[in-house]
Amino acid sequence: MKILVLNCGSSSIKYQVFNMEDETVLAKGAVERIGIEGSFVEHEVVQQDKKTKIEGEISSHQIGVEKVLDILQDEEYGIMQDIKEIKAVGHRVAHGGESFPHSTLLDYEDLAEIEDLSRLAPLHNPHNAAGIRTIWDLLPDMPQVGVFDTSFHQSMPKEAYIYPIPYEFYENMGIRRYGFHGTSHKYVAEQAAQKMGQPLEDLKIITAHLGNGASMAAIDGGVSVDTTMGFTPLEGLVMGTRCGDIDPSIIPFLQKKMEINAQEVEEILNKESGLLGISGISYDARDIEQAAAEGNERAQLAVDISCYRLKKFIGAYSTVMGRVDAIVFTAGIGEKSHIVRGGALAGLDFWGVKIDPEKNERGGEFVDIAAEDSKVRIFIIPTNEELVIARDTNELVKNGEEPGKNDNDNSVLRDYKKTS
Ligand code: ADP
Repeated sequence: MKILVLNCGSSSIKYQVFNMEDETVLAKGAVERIGIEGSFVEHEVVQQDKKTKIEGEISSHQIGVEKVLDILQDEEYGIMQDIKEIKAVGHRVAHGGESFPHSTLLDYEDLAEIEDLSRLAPLHNPHNAAGIRTIWDLLPDMPQVGVFDTSFHQSMPKEAYIYPIPYEFYENMGIRRYGFHGTSHKYVAEQAAQKMGQPLEDLKIITAHLGNGASMAAIDGGVSVDTTMGFTPLEGLVMGTRCGDIDPSIIPFLQKKMEINAQEVEEILNKESGLLGISGISYDARDIEQAAAEGNERAQLAVDISCYRLKKFIGAYSTVMGRVDAIVFTAGIGEKSHIVRGGALAGLDFWGVKIDPEKNERGGEFVDIAAEDSKVRIFIIPTNEELVIARDTNELVKNGEEPGKNDNDNSVLRDYKKTS
């Protein structure tokens, strides 16, 4: 069974085709610069190591998806005779609100709901929805599955997801912690349990997804009980350009002091803060680490603040769960930066968390970098969100789920939608 996985962004479509018999990637690529000058498709036939780049105007997502379907059937670079060999399409969807606590075989009502949830994720959901709509425009019978960044965190208890602001804001506007990167947190926690040879249900795991966006999760018995990102992906850890936790009073203060509007403050907190804001040189952790090594004090400060905040959440989540069996690092910085891993875990021996400095520095894929006598295992595990999307899509289609069956009709947000 072949599954196409799509990740539709504002100006790009990333894709992978999986053969689910052995979970191998047959082809992958990206349509870039949709709607702007210099559009192109980059495509790779993975097992034959054949690559191509096709340039030309791609003015919409619809044309972008058409290009993907074309190249998958191309004589030279294709991997199938007929597009009908694709049994289903799985989509990464940023925000599922409270309506999608699971990956869902979609119907048109779900698509409308995903579009409606754009009010919570205006930068992401409209593009995710456009991808789904486009596939149905081109292939009306194609089963499509939505895999949501928020779903995994729907298991959080109320004390973890309700903000201490007027409760009506939750009821009327859906303001609460949702959390993101759920697919990645779930995947690496499952991988860690496998590595430990123990059932996930018996384990308490802290996962740290540290890419340009970064979040941590407390996973107790396989379910997320808390996470650092909140109503939006701005809360929590220090990120490439996002500030993470700050005193909310800073926002009106800046508005008044700088005479700027809400959107301008949002821009500063999302695009000019984090590693970039502190260091003043770059949002990229590699540049920051290099500058710090060369004596740049603000770059060093950016590293120190990032590590300090990671450590604080490790403490918080250990306390919340009452025990920790494993800490997992994933995504660009988590997988590659021994400095951040080492800094985040320094001085936690009293907690039974003891990193082996040599193993940490050597790094690697899927390795345990804990010292022999550490009570807590410490893993580097590469994430694979596309594989999770393909697996969920395969499961739902294989089991003959009915479209829309996973809907949670009791959700506050659906009620909100009906009354608004
Ligand atoms: P995204 O969230 O965009 O998917 P990634 O998971 O690719 O991001 O992570 C990007 C981050 O990983 C960047 O800050 C980059 O500097 C960092 N990174 C990649 N390789 C290294 C490395 N060898 N050492 C330190 N940081 C690295």
